[in-house]
Amino acid sequence: MKPTILLLVLLSMTAAALSASISTPAVDRVIDKSDISGIMAKGSADTNKTDASEAISKANADSKTPLLYGDIKAPSTKNAVLCTSSTCRWPKYDRYVYVPVAISSQYTPTEQDIIIRALLTFHQSTCIRFVWRTTHRDYLYFFSGDGCWSLLGRQTGGQYVSLKKAGCLFQSTVQHEVLHALGFHHEQVRSDRDQYVQILYQNILSGQESNFQKTATNNLGTPYDFNSVMHYNKYAFSKNGQPTILAKSNPNLDFGRATNLSANDIARVNRLYQC
Ligand SMILES: [Zn+2]
Repeated sequence: MKPTILLLVLLSMTAAALSASISTPAVDRVIDKSDISGIMAKGSADTNKTDASEAISKANADSKTPLLYGDIKAPSTKNAVLCTSSTCRWPKYDRYVYVPVAISSQYTPTEQDIIIRALLTFHQSTCIRFVWRTTHRDYLYFFSGDGCWSLLGRQTGGQYVSLKKAGCLFQSTVQHEVLHALGFHHEQVRSDRDQYVQILYQNILSGQESNFQKTATNNLGTPYDFNSVMHYNKYAFSKNGQPTILAKSNPNLDFGRATNLSANDIARVNRLYQC
């Protein structure tokens, strides 16, 4: 075989191998409004008015799943909750970060709508694009487990996001668990939290102290945000009805009541993923 022909054969083989190994986002179907069934359930308007912190702590009160920080499922293969490596992030193609998802048929169309509508809020403000999973290796699988929980960052081989039917189907809760899967931690465990909050250990339920452990987070230049959908409320894991978290600037401040992504939640996604 002539050297030029051999080179051409080798080049075409390489191209074929590459196209087989790289996912082709062009053929993925991005989730959009047409995926919403539009069947309104009684009281469904309330799904946008419930805050994540309260809902998660109620729903997880008797969860049997081993959870860190209240609602982060401990990964079986990694011992760290820190999500700083690039493998923890979802890959970006061109302008968008395509995150494949599947939603369990356990949910009614109305329940699926709540999840889809919450996913679409990320499309409105970030470069995250949720696509329906076909043959993707890594994807989010929303199902009704024993509470509201998620793993931190992208995991190899698919990962569960538990949204219990009774207790976790709110816009804020879906956003909160999805933010964990995108690599984000709770606001009150941020590396710089001691400048902004005081943790009152004397009021924390026995055995729940680790939920308040400060973590080496990547804050991406965003300010500490009491309105983040990732901030627990001031009575989280309280054993006596007294606050467990106080704002240093104003001990009377009530917080952790976000029902939607805050401007900082959005900014962090856009910075981590360079949108
Ligand atoms: Zn959480």
